[in-house]
Amino acid sequence: MGETEAEEVFPFDINPMYEGERIRKVNLYVELGGQSKPGFELVLFEPDPEKIKDGEVTLIGPDLEEMEEGGTYAYAMIYRVYGEQIDKDLEAVIERRNHEYQGYIQGYMHLNQRAEIWVRIGKEAVKKGLKTLKQIGRATIMLFKAELPFIEKMEAIYITDEEEVVRRLAEANRIYEARDAKTMGLHDEDVDEFYQCTLCQSFAPTNVCVVTPDRTALCGAMNWFDSRAAARIDPEGPNAPIPKGECIDTIGGEYTGVNEAAIRLSGGEYDSIKLHSFLERPHTSCGCFEVAGFYIPEVDGIGWVHRGTKVSETPIGLTFSTIAGSVGGGKQVKGFLGIGIQYFYSPKFIQYDGGWHRVVWMASDLKERVKDAIPEEMRAKIATEKDVRDIESLREFLKRVNHPVVNGVVREVDGVRITEGWAAEAVEEVPPAGVEEAVPEREPVTLDPLAQVIASGVNSPVKIILKDADIRIGKIIVKRRGEK
Ligand code: SF4
Repeated sequence: MGETEAEEVFPFDINPMYEGERIRKVNLYVELGGQSKPGFELVLFEPDPEKIKDGEVTLIGPDLEEMEEGGTYAYAMIYRVYGEQIDKDLEAVIERRNHEYQGYIQGYMHLNQRAEIWVRIGKEAVKKGLKTLKQIGRATIMLFKAELPFIEKMEAIYITDEEEVVRRLAEANRIYEARDAKTMGLHDEDVDEFYQCTLCQSFAPTNVCVVTPDRTALCGAMNWFDSRAAARIDPEGPNAPIPKGECIDTIGGEYTGVNEAAIRLSGGEYDSIKLHSFLERPHTSCGCFEVAGFYIPEVDGIGWVHRGTKVSETPIGLTFSTIAGSVGGGKQVKGFLGIGIQYFYSPKFIQYDGGWHRVVWMASDLKERVKDAIPEEMRAKIATEKDVRDIESLREFLKRVNHPVVNGVVREVDGVRITEGWAAEAVEEVPPAGVEEAVPEREPVTLDPLAQVIASGVNSPVKIILKDADIRIGKIIVKRRGEK
């Protein structure tokens, strides 16, 4: 008799308390997907219930026992679902829950979504009796059906054969693109409600995800239609409507309803969010964002780097992972922002801060991927790692291409000049030897987290990161090196 989910006793605990569990390299049995191997997860609706073998898990490729300890393998998780209340619109909603339910499995770490999935299986889990990925598949199906009773039938196809993963990934990407295209043409002003998502609060408790037609979720997995479908089918679940309320700032995208949700969802940590701002009260970022943005004060512009980039360092000397460490955790971090790739295509893309006219650097593979979103006149003005290596060469590049940040950015949406530019910046004069320059007393300066990183000297061999520091400067004395 074949095992079914009702009969099977799993060799691992299944409990929501394991959500957010991290498996470090030292405890790693195998890694699946992630930065170095292809991977994806996909839910497909099957309208004919007869075509689904309920509870069955098929594995294509090597299983755990055939994998080398410490190795990394390709990984695809495809689920076929049927239910009278289900249609294609719910595919993305069900798919996003894979992250949540697999997080309940002890010794199994699931991060990210779509074609970014990153799974780790711990040595302990294998020691305790985890033998096959089919056990993971059956536990996942059991959880899906218990938590979402509208799923009547479900089967899984897990793939670890790399060629097969790559072959099916092409099809998955076409499906993701078709889902994303649905929100084109619908804008924030066309709807009365946005949607919240609290799925990631298990590891980022103050995270406030607000999904709107012009701002797809930062994980890239939930657009406004998906969130609406989720709220309807699972009203007690993580997605609920946020009535927009009054619009306080049309350019920044600030609404009374969103501000109320920010207070409620962050436990009072944040009281306002501008949906389309980068520098002023930006959207919070958990850990799932597809792309991290970082402000570069030396050029008064913004850079972007994405998860899975081939580029090792940004011009500020930080990698994606280091930047992600500063952005994540459900914080509203001035100077950093996590977004979904699709937000680049939004007509309101960081419009409060000048939109594309403020973008000075992108990882080349990201720039290539979203090139259709970049306005024609800005394409050659945005540097990549192929053009510049550090801040100095970035400044030179921007001057050479006459980037808007050089002479001041005029916000396209309202014609307001929002930055002054730095072309005419006076060259800093060093006072003659022995002269002490006294600077008058001034208000205390609070460095935001980005400034703290920049102040740390990113091009120096030593990095000092000051978190939540208040620095008061009463007097600055400038001296030549070696002078007493
Ligand atoms: S990143 Fe936001 S929208 Fe995506 S699953 Fe997490 S909380 Fe939900």
